[in-house]
Amino acid sequence: MYSLSCVSGNSYRRCLNAERGTLIQCWCGEPSKIFTSGSATNPGRLYYCCAKGYNKRHLFKWADECLVEEVEDIKSLISGMNKDISEFRLNVARLEKEIKGMKTESGRKGEECMS
Ligand SMILES: [Zn+2]
Repeated sequence: MYSLSCVSGNSYRRCLNAERGTLIQCWCGEPSKIFTSGSATNPGRLYYCCAKGYNKRHLFKWADECLVEEVEDIKSLISGMNKDISEFRLNVARLEKEIKGMKTESGRKGEECMS
């Protein structure tokens, strides 16, 4: 068993939907901890729970569900980044073309002045 650090808790909550992914802090302000279920229905299943203990007013979430949500969020983040990258590549190619054109243009002007 290990406890999670809640140092970056506030920025994490601002960036992502507070209800999705791994919840490192209970809404009561206590850090969440990871436990292993010993119940008959979910033996050995990991879950996050408020440090104050299991209670309806405190955080309880299955760790596998947290991870699935996190992976889904990261996937959509990556696909958005890939879109950005292909846009940036197009822009770079366009700018390189523009620079090349400017260089040949200024080269020609230089020749004209020399003669
Ligand atoms: Zn709590």
